[in-house]
Amino acid sequence: MAHLKSIFTVFFIVAMAQLNHAQLGQNKKGFTRQDSLRGSITPERAWWDITYYDLDIKVTPADKYIAGSNTIHYKVLQPNNVLQVDLQSPLNMTRAVQDGRDLEIRHEGNAHFIKLTKEQLPGMINQVQVFYEGNPREARNAPWDGGISWKKDRNDNDFVASSCQGLGASVWWPNKDHMYQEVDSMAIHVNVPNPLMNVSNGRLIKTEPKDDNTTTYHWFVKNPINNYGVNINIGDYVNFNEVYQGEKGDLDMNYFVLRDNLEKAQEQFKDATRMMEAFEHWFGPYPFYEDSFKLVEVPYLGMEHQSSVTYGNRFRNGYLGRDLSGTGWGMKFDFIIIHESGHEWFANNITNKDIADMWIHESFTAYSESLFLDFHYGTTAANEYVIGTRRSIRNDRPLIGEYDVNHEGSGDMYYKGANMIHTLRMLVNDKDQWRKILRDMNKVFYHSTVSTQDIEDFLSQSIGQDLEGFFNQYLRNTKIPKLVLKKKKNKLSYHWENIVDNFELPIRIIIDDEIVLINPTASKQVLKLPSDKSVIQTDPAYYVEYKLN
Ligand SMILES: [Zn+2]
Repeated sequence: MAHLKSIFTVFFIVAMAQLNHAQLGQNKKGFTRQDSLRGSITPERAWWDITYYDLDIKVTPADKYIAGSNTIHYKVLQPNNVLQVDLQSPLNMTRAVQDGRDLEIRHEGNAHFIKLTKEQLPGMINQVQVFYEGNPREARNAPWDGGISWKKDRNDNDFVASSCQGLGASVWWPNKDHMYQEVDSMAIHVNVPNPLMNVSNGRLIKTEPKDDNTTTYHWFVKNPINNYGVNINIGDYVNFNEVYQGEKGDLDMNYFVLRDNLEKAQEQFKDATRMMEAFEHWFGPYPFYEDSFKLVEVPYLGMEHQSSVTYGNRFRNGYLGRDLSGTGWGMKFDFIIIHESGHEWFANNITNKDIADMWIHESFTAYSESLFLDFHYGTTAANEYVIGTRRSIRNDRPLIGEYDVNHEGSGDMYYKGANMIHTLRMLVNDKDQWRKILRDMNKVFYHSTVSTQDIEDFLSQSIGQDLEGFFNQYLRNTKIPKLVLKKKKNKLSYHWENIVDNFELPIRIIIDDEIVLINPTASKQVLKLPSDKSVIQTDPAYYVEYKLN
């Protein structure tokens, strides 16, 4: 996602963490039935597979109001007659209709159980149209809290955008709000007051002026899309575009910005093609050619909305003008363009099944910043950058969160995760092979939802080493391995401290001017040095601690 709240609101987060611990003490794990309804594959979700959404809404900024419907097309996997659709308060689900017949809805907080009357036969594709309306939750601090941002631009035009990572798309439209399954394709029809424009995902199919001084924008997404990737952006937009010659042919790249920002954007958005060059090189073809690539200006920092990446980084390099790594390399690119677009491969192409595994999105994407630098400025730049980002690592709790309750792991999923992945690159120690692994990963899991185990298995197999202990160490534990090196005359002893069972990481050290690969364990091993005066050096690119004496 957008990001690094961690560095800039560390104190707030520490305070929140303490609060969470206090709550956890009272109630086992501190989760509610609503958390389970939101975060697990309930029986009322498991029996049907979403094939198509047709979202048709009217947005009235003057009243901060949304009204409309989502027609859910689904395939019956097992017979059942109760279907769970999610929609968050204060929005109201007013009606559900199947085959022209109104259905009974049992509301339980943000989960709504629709009682179907028609027999649901396996293999059938059925539709249910769900109507809703109301004042959706307003985002106060988007994208961190989520909801709808109802803002104004400098010219007093309405400037409206949705963001809902973590919180869930059901904060503004009704759907099966769980990450394990993506809809195959989707239509998004959004009616807005003139002269505003709505930009959503995929391609603009039609612009339809209405009699009541409004216009409906019809968008269509051809590829599978996750819920939080769907978005509306409404403003006084102007557009410019270019065609990028990519790995899969011509890719349409479209940019939507507020009227006043056109010139600034034409300069700053040059990073979009630089991004595309670097990421197609490292990760393979952009995963959504059919839907085009867009950057869309919004009144908040940014988000990885699929094929319509949202942008609010003030047309400056760095992260709001700052370098997260402290090395200078972070000022060589527009953080939001690079980071949020990196998510097209890791979050939108390869998507976690449960948000507890959100490190799959953030660790690889945070790491993609380093690979962007590698492509344009070389491996030394990439190394320095990723090492520099360690200053934001807290090692407070594991990267993996709690499963089945819509719970994210530690904010360390960004830069601890990036450094973990960089350590794997050190293990592979071959730039071409490393690139092949990342490209294969995007091929093997193309348009898929995955678990941590899927990624672990894939990487173990590709790298040719059982990485179970490695991932247990970095994903499920907060301790950093410490390599203890002791030199005595012409002997060097070495072993790991702070490691979990089966942790294995062969590591290169430099003895005098020679690179030597050692495979430490928890027990001491001894190596003979060329002389009493031999000099030992360690490599900071591995994310481990060293103790050398
Ligand atoms: Zn991110």
